[in-house]
Amino acid sequence: MPTRTVHVGSVAIGGGNPVSVQTMTKTDTRDVDGTVAQIREISAAGCDIVRLAVPDGEAADALEKIVPQSPIPVIADIHFDYQLALKAVRNGVHGLRINPGNIGSSDRVRQVAEACNDAGIPIRIGVNAGSLEKELLEKYGPTPEAMVESAAGHIRYLEKLNFTAIKVSLKASDVARTVSACRLFAGRFDYPQHIGITEAGTEHTGLVKSHIGIGALLLDGIGDTIRVSLTADPVREVLAGREILRALGMLPSVPKFISCPTCGRIDFNIRKYAPLIEQEVEKLGGTITIAIMGCAVNGPGEAREADVALCGARGYAGIYRKGQLIAKTGEENLVEAFMNVVKEVLKEESQDLIAGDADKDGKRI
Ligand code: SF4
Repeated sequence: MPTRTVHVGSVAIGGGNPVSVQTMTKTDTRDVDGTVAQIREISAAGCDIVRLAVPDGEAADALEKIVPQSPIPVIADIHFDYQLALKAVRNGVHGLRINPGNIGSSDRVRQVAEACNDAGIPIRIGVNAGSLEKELLEKYGPTPEAMVESAAGHIRYLEKLNFTAIKVSLKASDVARTVSACRLFAGRFDYPQHIGITEAGTEHTGLVKSHIGIGALLLDGIGDTIRVSLTADPVREVLAGREILRALGMLPSVPKFISCPTCGRIDFNIRKYAPLIEQEVEKLGGTITIAIMGCAVNGPGEAREADVALCGARGYAGIYRKGQLIAKTGEENLVEAFMNVVKEVLKEESQDLIAGDADKDGKRI
C-alpha cells in the first residue's frame, strides 16, 4: 500500500519520495557547539535528517541555538515529558519523536498535537519491542503483533485529534521480529515508516543485522526513511545507510561499481587497482557503471554491461567502453588511463543530456 507523505522541514517522507537517511547525534545536546559540529559532520556524510535526544529543559533550550545552525532538519527525541515537547516545537524543530500514549492526560496530548499542527511538523511514534505496554505484553508477549498493536494505540490518540502527520517506527534488536512487525504494519496502515534495527550492536555485527533487516524491507517496498543504529560514530551510521540505498539502486546519480572477487584464474593484479579506481570514480560522482574483472572468464560479459571496464589478461589489462576493447594498459599509468576514459564518458553523457540526444551509444565508440 503506498504511504502518505509527511514533511520534515525540506525533506518529504513517504508517498514514493526518495528514501531518506537519518541518524542521531551522540553529543550532549546541551553542548550547542559540539552538537552543531557533529550535525555538520553527518550532514557532510550525506545525512538528510538528524535527531537529537532531549532529556531535560536545558537540552530543549539548546535547540533554540542548534536548529538555526543545522544544515539539515532537526527532530527532537522526547520521552514522556510533554512540556519538553512543547518547548522543542517553540524552539523550531522540524519534527518530534514522542509516543502520545506515554505523555499522560488527553489534554497534554492535545496540546502537543496542536503545537505540531500549528508549526506544520510531524510526530513519529516509535515503538520499541523492549518497552511495550504491560497489557500488550501480557496478551501477546513481545511479538510483532504486540508492536503493531502498540503503534495502533498511539495512532488512535492522534487520529482522535485529527492529527495525521504521523510516521511510525517498529523496532526490535533482532532482525526477524523487526521485519515481521514492519510488514504487518504496512498491511494495515498507510503511514510512512521509519525503519531500522534498534540497538543493532557494534559496527561489525550491527552492520550485518541492519543490512539484512533494512534491505529486506526496502526490497518489499516498505520503509520511507532509514536509520542504521550502531555503537559507533554517527558518521558510520550515515555511510552505512547510504550504502544500503546504493546497493539497492535507490541513490540517484552515484556510480555503480562491479568488481570480481578474484580467484586462481586471475591474470592481472586487479585487487590492487579496484579500490584505487573506486575511490577516483567516487570523487567524480555521476551515473556510470564501472566493472573491474580479473580475467577473461566473466570479464568480457561484465564489460559489455558496464560503461567502462577493466579486464585482466596475460601481462596487461584491457580497457573497454560498452564492451569494446579500446586500449591495453600495463600497471604503469593504469589508473590514469582508466580514469581518462571514465571522464570522457561522463563528459559525453552530460553533453548528451544537455543536447537531449537520445542516441548516445552511436556517438561513444
Ligand atoms: Fe576469477 Fe576471473 Fe571470475 Fe575474477 S573474473 S573471479 S579472476 S574467474
